[in-house]
Amino acid sequence: MSAPMSSFIRVTVPSALLSSAVLSACASAQTASTTPEAPRIEQARVEQIISTLADDDMRGRSAFSADAVRAAEYLAGEFAAAGLESPEGADGYLQWFSVPTPTRGAANVGGNGGASASEQGLVNVVGMIPGRRSDEYVLFSAHYDHIGIREPVAGDSIANGANDNASGTTAVVMLGRYFAERGTPERTLLFAAFTAEERGGFGSRYYSTQLDPDQIVAMFNIEMIGKPAVQGPNTAWITGFEQSSFGLILQEAVTGTEYEFYPDPYPDQRLFYRSDNATLARSGVPAHSISTTPIDVDQDYHQVTDHVETLDLEHLTNTIRAIAMGAETIVSGAATPTRVDLPDGN
Ligand SMILES: [Zn+2]
Repeated sequence: MSAPMSSFIRVTVPSALLSSAVLSACASAQTASTTPEAPRIEQARVEQIISTLADDDMRGRSAFSADAVRAAEYLAGEFAAAGLESPEGADGYLQWFSVPTPTRGAANVGGNGGASASEQGLVNVVGMIPGRRSDEYVLFSAHYDHIGIREPVAGDSIANGANDNASGTTAVVMLGRYFAERGTPERTLLFAAFTAEERGGFGSRYYSTQLDPDQIVAMFNIEMIGKPAVQGPNTAWITGFEQSSFGLILQEAVTGTEYEFYPDPYPDQRLFYRSDNATLARSGVPAHSISTTPIDVDQDYHQVTDHVETLDLEHLTNTIRAIAMGAETIVSGAATPTRVDLPDGN
């Protein structure tokens, strides 16, 4: 999740769009069904991946640094091990691109991925599972970059970004593994670990230019799912809930299970516009972020204390299971969310 400063431009949307009407409509749409089995997502593997990404060795995975490249290379190995295919144009799951040198903050973080002084190299990690429908995509994504090295606090200067967003990145790897094991899906599944979310969303913006937004049926962007939500255990919330029927479809897909999805409880924070889903949402894609963190009171957000030890790994694993289950009908082609239609200026 990126800091809000740059996002509070041209705020014109009413803050409380969520209505009880939406919730009751949803409740009546839910029908009883046999309880689906929880998807097989191994907590030990979740712990291994998040611990690697948030290790001090990764030095906070700051975009525009060699540390982020090291994280990307690790993730490329995980995508391969998960059984994902490398999409056309990617270099072994690595999607390189460059942007003009940013005006602040880049000089102190080391390597630049081999680009020239005026252009800096960045890299996304991308994978796919081809489906029977080659022109309908379901995208699972998370940003893997974080904010790097900060002023030391109690001798610790590494902002490890365990929750933000090694947790979401771990989910993308585990969902890739889960869906790859299930064989050919109906819709084509895309997996992306984006760079530079914390520095202006460059990764998701570049990625979006490589696809036709009209072919993207849904985007599951996963942000900060390592701490339980205010709504209680086994719950997650969805940003921009009222902007499409995506959330209602997920709610229906987990009906009768121990998991629940809710609308984002912090509409004033405009989180829908503050993460990597925003670019594709502006192009009409039902592109939403799924999170669980009580972001209004979280003491570790963008601090050097964002360590794995502060997270609830059972909750994290359960949330990945919930997302796998919630995605079921969209992956199978049984459900298609309505498109997003944002007012100009958002
Ligand atoms: Zn962040």
